[in-house]
Amino acid sequence: MSAAFVTILGSNSAVPAFNRHPTSQVLELGGELILIDCGEATQIQMQKFQIKRNRINHIFISHLHGDHYFGLIGLITSYGLMGRTTDLHIYSPNGLAQLIQLHLQLGGVVLPYALHFIVIEQEGLIFENNKIKVHCFPTIHRIACFAFKFEEKRNPRKIDVAQCIANDIPAAYYRYLQLGNDYETKQGKIIKNETVTIAADAPKTYAYGADTIYNEAMIPFVSNVDLLYHETTFLKDLAERAAARYHSTTVEAATIALKANVKKLVIGHFSSKYKDLAQFKLEAAAVFENVELAIEGTCINI
Ligand SMILES: [Zn+2]
Ligand SMILES: [Zn+2]
Repeated sequence: MSAAFVTILGSNSAVPAFNRHPTSQVLELGGELILIDCGEATQIQMQKFQIKRNRINHIFISHLHGDHYFGLIGLITSYGLMGRTTDLHIYSPNGLAQLIQLHLQLGGVVLPYALHFIVIEQEGLIFENNKIKVHCFPTIHRIACFAFKFEEKRNPRKIDVAQCIANDIPAAYYRYLQLGNDYETKQGKIIKNETVTIAADAPKTYAYGADTIYNEAMIPFVSNVDLLYHETTFLKDLAERAAARYHSTTVEAATIALKANVKKLVIGHFSSKYKDLAQFKLEAAAVFENVELAIEGTCINI
């Protein structure tokens, strides 16, 4: 089982404030290191928290508000200066390729690696390899914006070799046992799968809710995930302001977590009007107990 955790690089909304930076997270899942949003200062935060940036081959940008992508041109350019040759894939709503390519063109930059832009237009599967898959879901925000769900693929069952030998099961059949099949001996006796294999660890899931107004339509998309990130730009007393700006409050984020039966909630995208964040946790925990603040530099297990 590979490691599964999220490192918070940026947790503030709109502008940097109180040593907090605009949104960015790094996800370790299924042996992949994935960047989710890339606000200003993402590179600096990567250095500070010793992120191995060369392991990142896939970047997911939720939407084109600057607090979610203003760090991207710097990162792309640095990769070039550092001599990167591995392809880089960037998933985002329409328009990002034009923005980045204009920067590169006017700066006379020729990258030594291939940049692939994948435009997200609707709900569905946007990336898959043999270890993980990523689905997206449109949130309700001021511009096109997508939530992402990152899922490990189901692990095969583990072979109990001692039991297999005791039951005379040939090693050539192990791969069928891993898929859950029973074994039939030459005498016609059925050896039940669960007596000769061990259940693998459950696959992990992480949902990144991006910027969104309170939206119960998101609940089926994030239901039962191990960890949900949901924005909480404002405390609960500013629910009207949150709705007017297509953002959410503590109570709203926690209500989505509760209704979606997630295992754990992490909240962030804090408004710059708040210096102290303690109240965010108190208000969210009153609705959904297993909640953590997106404090920069913390690694949250999935
Ligand atoms: Zn934002
Ligand atoms: Zn936004």
